[in-house]
Amino acid sequence: MKQIIHARIVLRDRIIRDGSIVFSDKIISVSENSEKLKGVTVINADGATVIPGLIDLHIHGYLGADASDGDVKGIETMADGIARNGVTAFLPTTMTLSYAELEKAFNAVRRAKANGTPGGAEILGVHAEGPFINPEKCGAQPKEYAVSPDADFIINNADIVKMVTIAPEMDADFANIRRIKNETDTIVSIGHTNADYALAMASFDAGISHVSHLFNAMTAMNHRAPGVVGAALGSDKVSCELICDTFHISPPLFSIVHKLKGERFNLITDCMRAGGLPDGIYDLGGQVVYVNGIRCLLADGVIAGSVLKLNHAVRNAAANGLSLCEAVNAASLYPATVLGLQNERGSIEVGKRADIVVCDSELEVKSVFREGKQIVS
Ligand SMILES: [Zn+2]
Repeated sequence: MKQIIHARIVLRDRIIRDGSIVFSDKIISVSENSEKLKGVTVINADGATVIPGLIDLHIHGYLGADASDGDVKGIETMADGIARNGVTAFLPTTMTLSYAELEKAFNAVRRAKANGTPGGAEILGVHAEGPFINPEKCGAQPKEYAVSPDADFIINNADIVKMVTIAPEMDADFANIRRIKNETDTIVSIGHTNADYALAMASFDAGISHVSHLFNAMTAMNHRAPGVVGAALGSDKVSCELICDTFHISPPLFSIVHKLKGERFNLITDCMRAGGLPDGIYDLGGQVVYVNGIRCLLADGVIAGSVLKLNHAVRNAAANGLSLCEAVNAASLYPATVLGLQNERGSIEVGKRADIVVCDSELEVKSVFREGKQIVS
C-alpha cells in the first residue's frame, strides 16, 4: 500500500490544495489531510499536482515507432514512451493501408496487448483511422488504400479494433455502419469525410457516436452549410476529439467546443512517429513529413499529424479557457467514458484503478503509477 501526501489533487470537479491519496492497485482513500499512515510506503509530493492517468484515443506513433508498422516492439516503445507524458492507457491508431498491412498491424497490437506493456501505458485496442475514408478528404493518409466501408473486416477484427473512423457518405444507406454498431462493441467515428450536415446527422442516427479530430479533414461549419462540424457540435449523440496543439486548432476554439460538448469533449494527440524526437524529416505511411516545432507538414504543406504530448494538450486547454479539472477530465474521464470504462478509471476516486500521475504546476510529469505500480520515476 502507498500513500502520496502533500499533493495538490485534481478531482473531477474540484481541487484539493494539500491532501493525500492512499492506494494499492485501486484508490483506497482521498483526503484533505496529509497525516502519514503507518505500514505504508509514503511518497511526499511536496505540493506537486496529482492528476489521473491520461487516456489517448488517437495516437499513431511515438519515439520513431508507428502503430502501422506492424511491429510488436514498436507498439511497446510507444507504450513506454507516452507513459512519460502521463498516459496510462491508449488506442494505438492505424492509418489507411491495405487490408494485409492492417491485419499485420492489428496482430502486432494483439501481441503487445497480450504481453501487457507492464512498464508503460496499457493498450486498450486499436483505433483504425481508415481505410474507410473519403479519398477526397484523406489529409495526410495515402489515397490509394481508401475503400468503401466493409463491416466484415471490422467484425472479423472486433476483438482488437475498439474504434473505427468512417466517412459515412462512402456507406450506402449506412448498411455497414449499422452492422458494426449492432454486431460489435467497436465505436464508429466520423472522419476524413465530405458529408454535409444532413448526411452527418443521419449517420449519427445509424450508429456513429464519435468524431475524429473535429474540424480537421471534414466539411467546415458555414452559416449556410453547417457541415460535419455543425452536426458534431449540435448533436448530443456524438463525442468529439480535438487536437489542442494550438496549430491544428486555433486556441479560442478550445473553450467554444468545450462549452458545446461538455463531457463529450476529448483531447487527443494524433501524434505521429516523430513524437518525442527532435525536429527533422520523418515518414508517415510512406510520405515524407517535415517536423519543425509543433508543425508537421507534407512537402505540399498539408498538415500531417502532430507531435503533441497529451499532458501538453491538457496544459494548452487549461491555458485557453478550460478549468484545470475540465482540461484533465477531457484527457482522462471523458475518453474513459467514450470507451465505457468510466466506472473503473479516468478520475481520482475511491474504488477506481490507481492510475495516478504526479506532475509539476506546468503538468510536466514527475512520476506515474499504473494500477498502483510505479512505471515512471
Ligand atoms: Zn490520426
